[in-house]
Amino acid sequence: MIPDFEAKLNEYAHLLVEVGMNVQPGQTPRINTSLDAAPLARLCVAACYDRGAREVVVDWRDDFVSRQRYLRADEAVFSEFPSYQKAKFDWLLERSAPNLALTGSDPELLKGVDPARIQAAELAAGEPTKPYYDAMTAGKFQWCVGAFPTLAWAEKAFPDKKGEDALDALWDAIFSVCRITGDGKGVERWQEHVAATARRAKVLNDYQFASLRYTNSLGTDLTVRLPDNHVWAGGSELSAGGVEFVANMPTEEIFTAPQWDGVDGRVYAALPLALNGNLVKDFWLELKDGRIVDVHAEEGEEVLRRSIDLDEGSHYLGEAALVPYDSPIRASGILFYNTLFDENASCHFAFGAAYPSCVKGGEDMSEADQKAAGLNQSINHVDFMVGTRDLSIVGTTHDGREIPVFVNGNFAF
Ligand code: ZN
Ligand code: ZN
Repeated sequence: MIPDFEAKLNEYAHLLVEVGMNVQPGQTPRINTSLDAAPLARLCVAACYDRGAREVVVDWRDDFVSRQRYLRADEAVFSEFPSYQKAKFDWLLERSAPNLALTGSDPELLKGVDPARIQAAELAAGEPTKPYYDAMTAGKFQWCVGAFPTLAWAEKAFPDKKGEDALDALWDAIFSVCRITGDGKGVERWQEHVAATARRAKVLNDYQFASLRYTNSLGTDLTVRLPDNHVWAGGSELSAGGVEFVANMPTEEIFTAPQWDGVDGRVYAALPLALNGNLVKDFWLELKDGRIVDVHAEEGEEVLRRSIDLDEGSHYLGEAALVPYDSPIRASGILFYNTLFDENASCHFAFGAAYPSCVKGGEDMSEADQKAAGLNQSINHVDFMVGTRDLSIVGTTHDGREIPVFVNGNFAF
């Protein structure tokens, strides 16, 4: 048992609703959750009404029911998307309903299911739900993704623990990296964290560095040019309605995109990379004019090479993210096997696609224009961690001034 579990769970629910989704009076939030997260979801519902929600819509999933359907329902149902479901998404869109997704599903859930059924179901749901989800990712209304432990996930993250012990360990880890202590002040702590992140992003945006040079004792020596008009983002976002929200809980990173053909040197991974069920360990990438020209891994090199060979764009970097070495997720020392957490453990790069929002006006550009603006294009996006205790990052401005950005693994400002 975790001491003060109820108080911590309630504090976590308030964090997801008040800082994550930031529900406003009169709004109609939607919570998309598994039955396994019912105690958390119920507290979130109550917290939404505390904030003056008009109505809270909950979409319950049940893993057992989903699995039975995938295995045993009539083949034809997977290529249909019921019209009443489509009507629901249109109804949510009309109301600009903020969205809270509670994730943590079982990696074994779809084991043994005919992949054609899964693909058909995804295809059938794609078009009808696209207007709602497109509006969401474009920030037309607030949204947030938060996590809850499932047994399968907990036993993967804590391989030496079983059952309740593993679940408790994962709950404990989630609470601690989300700055939840049970004292009821989680929301305030998070507001301070978001403000500090926004202040740093502003400093970086004001400098508009021409390039960043990364060095550390592992052997990393990498120069990363940044696109003209690049944007550093992190912490919170603003919805079209002007409401601040935090899309990922937790989040520690401030990120932008490298100039796709402007990265040179060698970068060493600081942490293992979980890739398609395999671990890649102790690896480095060598880049020339942005392209990955050589790779070495002590373990899992083939898996890494295959991912880099997925398409031409996978040979280039699409994300540069800054995370202090002192971040709670790195300090926990846990490999979560979940990107929501693991990418917040350390400074990282991603090979593959850049986010369009990383240059000014990027969201309204065609893919060709995005590439011309410096943003890499790919169907791939793989984050790998490079931040160490001794990482140094020096920014060079367009007029040649050198400004420390990271000193000894942490922000210099
Ligand atoms: Zn990232
Ligand atoms: Zn990423």
